[in-house]
Amino acid sequence: MLKITKRVLQYFGLFTLFISSALAVSSEFNFSVTPIADNVYSIISPSYGRPSAENKGWNSNSHFVVTKSGVLVFDTGSSEIIGKGIIKAIKSVTEQPIRWVVNSHSHADHWLGNAAFSNIGAKILATASSTSAMKEDGQGVVDAFERMTEGATGNSSIAYPTTLLTKREKRMFGEVEVEFIFANDGHSPGDVLMWLPKQKIILGGDVVNSDWIPIMTPRGNVPHLIDTLNAIIKLDPAIVLTGHGKGTTVQSVIRDVNLLSSVWKLVENGNKEGKSVDNILSQVTAELAGKYSPLYKDFDSSSSYLVQMMYKKQQ
Ligand SMILES: [Zn+2]
Repeated sequence: MLKITKRVLQYFGLFTLFISSALAVSSEFNFSVTPIADNVYSIISPSYGRPSAENKGWNSNSHFVVTKSGVLVFDTGSSEIIGKGIIKAIKSVTEQPIRWVVNSHSHADHWLGNAAFSNIGAKILATASSTSAMKEDGQGVVDAFERMTEGATGNSSIAYPTTLLTKREKRMFGEVEVEFIFANDGHSPGDVLMWLPKQKIILGGDVVNSDWIPIMTPRGNVPHLIDTLNAIIKLDPAIVLTGHGKGTTVQSVIRDVNLLSSVWKLVENGNKEGKSVDNILSQVTAELAGKYSPLYKDFDSSSSYLVQMMYKKQQ
């Protein structure tokens, strides 16, 4: 009798464990995983732009590295629900436990999935300044995303990073060496990139782009962005993984440096000559559209935004 009871309890325990782990990874998302290199994978969102009802908040990429000691994840999406979808996708390719998460920066489409990972015991890393920015946004950004997606992102629990990076450094994750490279606020305050020297892969978050012009934000620093992109070119990566859009090569980074440097210079000169934004934009179009329209999906539609953002930054 005692034996049976013990066995029943064991089964019950296993059953509840099974149910709770099934719940922990249940998700309406069935993300597909793209192999990038040995033990490196991407989950690429087909949607570019802001979280919306149509994309259910899934507008950004996540990537992960499978090591012999566990899985390292780069970016967790716009909601806890998406985070659970990422976990489910990771479990489809490896039985290794998910042990570490890195948030590339503080924009909420890259970290609001954190709670799904902290709930399964993963340690969350980001720069100290990203983490401060996340804390400033806090619940406000959960509510904003819920409104923007008409409820699709839900009321995500918040899990802030607890391991703070403060300077360029190398760390081992299992047998995989990772170098954290700071963009000095190039895209946003506290951006960090992950360089895998052995695989020659850079995980760049929103500092790098494949099909669209570089993402300008009010607090991004264009000269620092250009410096960071030049530093990436020096590393000579074989593969460049982006925060939005498909993976790419160093050619995209070279293209972005050239575009940013040219437009920045035209805005600077225009400013010195007292030209209006419209005038500067006409000049940018006349001098650069021929070269860059074929290289970006949105050069024609986004060049005025690029010029306006740079103009404001130089005031
Ligand atoms: Zn961003």
